[in-house]
Amino acid sequence: MAKDYYGILGVSRDASADDIKRAYRKLARQYHPDVNPDPVAADKFKDINAAYEVLSDDQKRQIVDLGGDPLAPGGAPGGGPGGAGPFVGFQDIMDAFFGAAAGSRGPRSRTRPGADAILRLELDLTDTAFGVEAPITVDTAVICTTCSGAGTAAGTHLATCEACGGRGEVQSVQRTFLGQVVSSRPCVACQGYGTVIPHPCATCSGDGRVRTRRSLTVKIPAGVEDGMRIRLAQQGEVGPGGGTAGDLYVEIHERPHDVYSRKGDDLHCRVTVPMTAAALGTRLTIRTLDSDEPVDVKPGTQPGATLRLRGRGVPHLRGTGRGDLYVHLDVRTPTKLDAEQERALREFAKARGEEVAELTKQGGFFSRMRDAFNGHG
Ligand code: ZN
Repeated sequence: MAKDYYGILGVSRDASADDIKRAYRKLARQYHPDVNPDPVAADKFKDINAAYEVLSDDQKRQIVDLGGDPLAPGGAPGGGPGGAGPFVGFQDIMDAFFGAAAGSRGPRSRTRPGADAILRLELDLTDTAFGVEAPITVDTAVICTTCSGAGTAAGTHLATCEACGGRGEVQSVQRTFLGQVVSSRPCVACQGYGTVIPHPCATCSGDGRVRTRRSLTVKIPAGVEDGMRIRLAQQGEVGPGGGTAGDLYVEIHERPHDVYSRKGDDLHCRVTVPMTAAALGTRLTIRTLDSDEPVDVKPGTQPGATLRLRGRGVPHLRGTGRGDLYVHLDVRTPTKLDAEQERALREFAKARGEEVAELTKQGGFFSRMRDAFNGHG
């Protein structure tokens, strides 16, 4: 039984040659194995090819219109079962239809943009807070000064590649049901450049760039944070053939500080005051990142109390002003009392009407403490 070639392409029996071409192109876009990995699509694409082969050929189409199948065995000379001849790549089909001029892709440039580079920079809190001009050592490809990036030895020049005649690609012609299809592949002899370097620069072996270590100064703005990146335009890797350098990113890593921990632009620290100072009140001098600040601890301060020093934190990176400094107070109970201190404390407790247990060798301390607590509810 003859295949319904019109149905496969989705065109009517009186479709024009243009209609058939358009239908085929549309279906090829949808089902070509290069663009559709589904195995079912591959089978469908075979049918689509066969239908196009038949309907785009006036003689074969006539056989179809008379109820025959030009691709059936013995149906007509030339076509075998499945028809369609050699496998044709999707791009080649599109080129055949749109007439992409052979050679329009042309040789590729020896000069290509370079890659970005990244460098880790460790900084102290004072530097991230107030900014710093930090010296850095950068290890990247730079332009070869011997040949200025050309890759050729002094007094020599690039030569046209003989294998491809300078086109950078070689073409092969396939005879297919679409007619002749020209495929292009990059020239192996010149890697697609169209030129070769007969006498490479001895310094860079023809690459136009060399790796080197250089020193730079990077300006770190005040208020940067751990993990931020500073971009230095065109300080990255120089590209092949001396191509424009990529960017260099300097990634900030803030060393932990002995005293302060940082949360955003706020700083936190812990200060220990003796029990008596917490009870009586005192004045402390807090050393901030950039100043000494007198701070009053109010009488009756409890353990865990927090003092806030406005504007003594890290400067804001954007805008003005600074974060705050939080001082967390620990209250220390004396661990060793001499006889006089102990007597004074007992006097103090007595004055407050607090019952004080005495530590006995029999462990009476604990029982009497319990009594004391029970007694006061
Ligand atoms: Zn060179």
